[in-house]
Amino acid sequence: MSEKNDVFEKIVSLAKRRGFVFPSSEIYGGFGAIYDYGHYGTLLKNNIRDLWWKAMVQLRDDVVGLDSAIFMHPMAWKASGHVDGFNDPQVDCRQCKARFRADHLLEDFGIDADKATIEFINAELGKLREAGKLKCSNCGSRDLTDAKVFSLMVKSNLGSPTEALSEENVVYLRPETCGGIYLEYKNTVNSARVKLPFGIAQVGKAFRNEIVARQFIFRTREFEQMEMQYFHHPSMTKEKYEEWKQSRWTWYALLGIPEDKIRFHKHEKLAHYASEAYDIEYDYASLGGFKEVEGIHARGDWDLSQHSKFSGDDLTYFDEKTNERFIPHIMETSVGLARLFLMVLDNAYTEEEVKEGDVRTVMKFPKSLAPVKVAVFPLLKNKPELVAKAREVYDMLKQEWQCEFDDNGNVGKRYRRQDEIGTPYCVTVDFDTLGEEDASLKDTVTVRDRDTMEQVRIPVAELKDYFAKNLK
Ligand code: ATP
Repeated sequence: MSEKNDVFEKIVSLAKRRGFVFPSSEIYGGFGAIYDYGHYGTLLKNNIRDLWWKAMVQLRDDVVGLDSAIFMHPMAWKASGHVDGFNDPQVDCRQCKARFRADHLLEDFGIDADKATIEFINAELGKLREAGKLKCSNCGSRDLTDAKVFSLMVKSNLGSPTEALSEENVVYLRPETCGGIYLEYKNTVNSARVKLPFGIAQVGKAFRNEIVARQFIFRTREFEQMEMQYFHHPSMTKEKYEEWKQSRWTWYALLGIPEDKIRFHKHEKLAHYASEAYDIEYDYASLGGFKEVEGIHARGDWDLSQHSKFSGDDLTYFDEKTNERFIPHIMETSVGLARLFLMVLDNAYTEEEVKEGDVRTVMKFPKSLAPVKVAVFPLLKNKPELVAKAREVYDMLKQEWQCEFDDNGNVGKRYRRQDEIGTPYCVTVDFDTLGEEDASLKDTVTVRDRDTMEQVRIPVAELKDYFAKNLK
């Protein structure tokens, strides 16, 4: 196994063992490309989401929030082009039944088939087949089908059975969250006292029937997106695009990501309505290289024009200053929460030799993201005075931060466990805290730093100030 796959296996295993991420429905044998988040995973995911929300909504005067429904009127997905065009090209192996994305197969031969027609894809596959180069990466068979179009839309049956089953009434689970933003553009303008340019941001679940989803939480069939749509006059596209590109780039530093681990990837082939599209890619050690995390797209007036056309509603904006009426153009930033989550795990995962032959695994999360900020231990669990004092300290600190009380096993083991979930500080209550031998140490505790492993002695009365300063 390669070193890169090794990191992948280690991260997947730690994520499960320590309660970050579990394969969904495991007691029934699992359910393809769907995952659940355990206690620490939920805390970490919420922290990443909150950091995004703070940067995108709280700190901005020109962006407001939204939480739109997953189900939307079926016509909305016809207007957006998803019902007819949200497809991937699929190839099957007739021998082992493995499934592939045809554009990814061609990519392996250096052929760019992103957004290519099915005719182009099959012509290229044909050439490779004739040259004897095309075979199944799973079983080695050369018996692969031609590519066919596979819809990524996930159907549901909402409403009464007869209604739900008719073709015109198919209800979809949303494949992206921005659809709800376009539909609430008008209500937002009328209620939130916003003036162009302004943005609407939301976080929520999206669903895609991905053909191949084998990269842990990188590509799943149910996932969370954090999207912002920025409505503006067409003359501002260039300026606003550059501003957002820059502001999204700098946000990654807050996640502890060094600049040399991210890069911009420019889309050469654009959707017909788009004028610019870049992705931010992260260099995943666990996935063997740079992969897309976020898209930043200038979408023109396509979305509101289409919804206006299909709904018959007027979605123009009237600018009182210039007396101009127009359909606003849109700049989008769209990022997958699970891809950020995997990026944060990947970047934090560290193995280091503590002393000869003794290697510790430590998740070096930025403190702001760490699921648990402080763990509190009584030195021994069978000494009631130590346990009571440690509980007192824990009860005080948990009012301010996500804390954990741990009295299980020896302190060395407890440190290692906290290292693996990335807890920045551990506080130990010991006999000195009780002041039994040295009265000057009474009511002091040991605080151990996750990264340096150094320990300092701090009065209990000063702990809150200490963490307020150091957990920033
Ligand atoms: P990809 O090319 O990887 O399939 P995409 O270009 O189709 O992604 P977009 O439709 O632009 O992705 O979605 C915006 C963001 O949503 C992506 O950058 C990614 O972070 C996230 N995302 C998209 N599909 C998935 C998925 N199946 N699982 C997890 N996250 C996803």
